[in-house]
Amino acid sequence: MPISPEQKMDLLVSLCKRRGFVYPGSEIYGGFANSWDYGPYGAELRRNIRNAWWQRFVLGRDDVVGIETPILMNPKAWEASGHLQNFNDPLVDCKKCKHRFRADHLLEAKQAEPGYDKEKPVDLKNVRCPLCGGELTGVRQFNMMMKTFVGVMEDPTSVAYFRPETAGGMFVAWKNVRDSSRKKLPFGIAQTGKAFRNEITPGNFIFRTREFEQMEIEYFVKAEDASRAFDMWLAEQKSWVHDVLKLDPSHVVYHEIPDAERAFYSARSVDTEYRFPFGLKELYGIANRTDYDLARHQDASKEDLRYLDPETGEKVLPYVIEPTWGVDRSVLAVLSEHLDIDEADTSDGDKEPRMVLRLPPRLAPVKAAILPLQKKDDLVRVARDLIASFRGAGVSVEYDESASIGKRYRRQDEIGTPWCFTVDFESLNDKKVTVRDRDSMGQERVAIGDVTGWVQNKL
Ligand code: ATP
Repeated sequence: MPISPEQKMDLLVSLCKRRGFVYPGSEIYGGFANSWDYGPYGAELRRNIRNAWWQRFVLGRDDVVGIETPILMNPKAWEASGHLQNFNDPLVDCKKCKHRFRADHLLEAKQAEPGYDKEKPVDLKNVRCPLCGGELTGVRQFNMMMKTFVGVMEDPTSVAYFRPETAGGMFVAWKNVRDSSRKKLPFGIAQTGKAFRNEITPGNFIFRTREFEQMEIEYFVKAEDASRAFDMWLAEQKSWVHDVLKLDPSHVVYHEIPDAERAFYSARSVDTEYRFPFGLKELYGIANRTDYDLARHQDASKEDLRYLDPETGEKVLPYVIEPTWGVDRSVLAVLSEHLDIDEADTSDGDKEPRMVLRLPPRLAPVKAAILPLQKKDDLVRVARDLIASFRGAGVSVEYDESASIGKRYRRQDEIGTPWCFTVDFESLNDKKVTVRDRDSMGQERVAIGDVTGWVQNKL
């Protein structure tokens, strides 16, 4: 069934709500600022992504340590990092319909139009409102830091900011990590956690929200090793995209940011862009931030943040390579990549979309479903024992005894469960169950005692 990208996005959003991946936040109060709740399956999917990342980049390496720092930090840190002054997005309003836009997004849209002449860059003065054609206001810089008050007084001395990225906490903790972990350069600090930005135009489902989650690494290196480390981390990001998320290479673009568009402190930046149903957009980023952050914090805090090279006795301020991953955009990319839609016959002779989430098994919220053929005590008993053995092995499993087997397979297909195990009357004699593979739909018999190991091997 041919479907447009818009239809695909609509089907994805409705599947997410209906099956408990993602719901509109604060829905009973009419929603709130493009916020989203992750339901039971969505929470598992996120956790699986986060765990795969931690496993691969922290536990799986000698040269990275993981930390957790607070969302609220001393505001001096954000002053030193330049966020209070420079963490701005350029904003324009339509004078007629009053819609608000990010100026850089309007320019990007113009540049993506067919026939765009690179030799004649567009001037925002010549751009009209994309919704009503109205005249736009001039550009205003809008600071995206979210403010709050800490303590009992709501006065300027108690202002604090929600972190706009997890990176800041790692720079501020660098001295303690350096001194306590006794790691030698090059080494990285990693963390995952929430970040907050007062985005001008949140939207596209969970793609751009004001509260989101990041997974970031600050990788500290000697200046002369920075470009090699950059290449190494770019290769790691690519491997994550293709080997873990299993995104099709033709849907991913690695965009080298030209000098003129890069942040002034970055010596090199590459964005990983993914073809979401609503267009090619940034999924992840990586930057060579030079010694900008440590130099700024050293200057502001008056602490010596240099690294003492045990071999040469020399003190150096390391360069930092920062690969960064968004959790929510990972979830959206994985869901849109692996959502397979075909059509099925309805009972009244019509056609309806049938959805299968062909998630990589490691990321699937439920790894195995146990389905007794009928609600008969002997079958249910065997099924319950299987559930217990999966739970004992820490493998997420679901039990379903209602409706026909075909319907139960469909339910599991929609949430991406790779394997369904059916307990039938034969199982009572041969002590085997039938496993049905989500993608090949092939079936085989597996001995009941081997089922958990069978799934663990596949994972
Ligand atoms: P964009 O250009 O889309 O606003 P950015 O370049 O500002 O993104 P970074 O500051 O590089 O983003 O943040 C690192 C990562 O954090 C992004 O690659 C993305 O995965 C995620 N991210 C950033 N902003 C948001 C947001 N508002 N909602 C969800 N994820 C986000």
